[in-house]
Amino acid sequence: PTTQSRDYMLERMTTAILTADFTPRTVLVTGGNRGIGWAIAQEFIAEGHRVAVTARSGRGPEGSLTVIADVTDGVSLDAAFAVIEAQLGAVEILVANAGVTRDTLLMRMSDDDFTEVIDTNLSGAFRVVKRASKSMMKARFGRIILVSSVVGLLGSAGQVNYAASKSGLVGLARSVTRELGSRGITANVVAPGFVETDMTAALPDEQQKAYLKQIPANRFASPLEVARVITWLAGDSAGYISGAVIPVDGGLGMGH
Ligand code: NDP
Repeated sequence: PTTQSRDYMLERMTTAILTADFTPRTVLVTGGNRGIGWAIAQEFIAEGHRVAVTARSGRGPEGSLTVIADVTDGVSLDAAFAVIEAQLGAVEILVANAGVTRDTLLMRMSDDDFTEVIDTNLSGAFRVVKRASKSMMKARFGRIILVSSVVGLLGSAGQVNYAASKSGLVGLARSVTRELGSRGITANVVAPGFVETDMTAALPDEQQKAYLKQIPANRFASPLEVARVITWLAGDSAGYISGAVIPVDGGLGMGH
């Protein structure tokens, strides 16, 4: 993860605290030990929120509460929520970010390749959304943000499992919007394009070059560029946005 300087963090925190209508919230970011999730957690901390992070290993950024949990396992998630509620209060902002890839062409894709990706990326989001929405309904406030991908709507050769899981998140967010919209809860999808993290570093150079050619911005995104959109969506200025798919892809997916 890219570390931000202390000066930067101090400046961001001071600005946040000086903003008259700022309300510190309890935030949960799944998959917050590296990459995009780590940057999201750090931005929320910089804004002055109480931030919990879950992952199967490692730690979130300084200032976060890290709880080890697996999004494919409801029991471990329940235990994680209990710890977070006891230490930071009920989750008010949920970012379902944990995700995996198991890329291979359709003809070679095993049932396990497919179900593991769905179980993590889509069912994992369902589990945390369901658990968090209980207290959000009681509080009549909640922000749910699901981290999808440009390929969820664009499709991607070699990613039938991943693209299906990511487009499923759109139906999830839009249905939650219809069910819970009247309770002060918003549910949105953020769809990043190619972001520089461990997930994409694993792709062969040739594939990275091929992606770059298709991106109008002619560069990849930094995790911070995704994180900033997410903190904005969770803030008061975005309270009337729900069921939306917000692209952060340098123009790669235009038109969906
Ligand atoms: P990384 O591979 O760097 O990080 C994935 C995160 O998910 C890790 O924190 C990992 O922690 C966590 N995770 C994976 N499986 C589980 C699980 N079963 N239970 C709990 N946590 C889990 O990925 P990125 O930061 O690149 O991606 C973050 C999200 O953004 C993903 O949903 C990804 O699909 C999406 N995305 C990424 C793009 C990119 O270009 N990088 C583009 C578009 C979308 P651990 O393994 O320790 O459990």
